Amino acid sequence: MFRLFAVVIALLVMAQGAFASGLEAVSLLDVQGEGDPALLIGATDEQKAQYLTDGKLHTQILAFWVNGILFDAGLKDGHIVAELAKNGVKAEDVKTILITHLHGDHFGGLVGSEGKAAFPNAEVYVSRPEYDYWVKELKNEAVISALGLYEGRVHLFAFGDEVVAGVRAMDTSGHTPGHVSYLVEKDGETLIVAGDIMHFPEIQLPLPDVAVRYDVDPVKAV
Ligand SMILES: [Zn+2]
Repeated sequence: MFRLFAVVIALLVMAQGAFASGLEAVSLLDVQGEGDPALLIGATDEQKAQYLTDGKLHTQILAFWVNGILFDAGLKDGHIVAELAKNGVKAEDVKTILITHLHGDHFGGLVGSEGKAAFPNAEVYVSRPEYDYWVKELKNEAVISALGLYEGRVHLFAFGDEVVAGVRAMDTSGHTPGHVSYLVEKDGETLIVAGDIMHFPEIQLPLPDVAVRYDVDPVKAV
């Protein structure tokens, strides 16, 4: 009886060890939406009829919480903060935010109520080519004002850099000039947070040559 009990304890310890190590990823849903099939580039009417069973495109705006790092911030003030709260994380406890690219549905949630930083203690990481495109070339006011809330805490990096410990930036430019995906590694497990590699999986998974009008360079995005 004692031996059986000891075996059960050992299995529990091993199980706890398994939960404590490796990657823990939570998807945070900002909003679900529908898109006009006219957004697609490179899909024939026949293919649209085949894959879009109700004639519409379906998409979700998501952020991800992986081992204490927030990947993207969502579109709207408060949505991702509320999703984090459901997982026991307060906005002020978010210390690291890695941005895949500077479209509004990925950085918009950096701006909190009354125009203040939604994550008051966070360092924000953006690829240098992405920053240069939106801030220096386009002088995009929404990007400039959102990042301005984190002045002194915005860090620029190059494709291929290890941005923070265990997270490397992969060059997936095309959708935007500085678009990155993040390769996250911990304890032998790997995860790729892929941002807007794809927008409408119901048609872009079976037809990976299809781009969308949101892609700055559709050929490169494909
Ligand atoms: Zn995008």
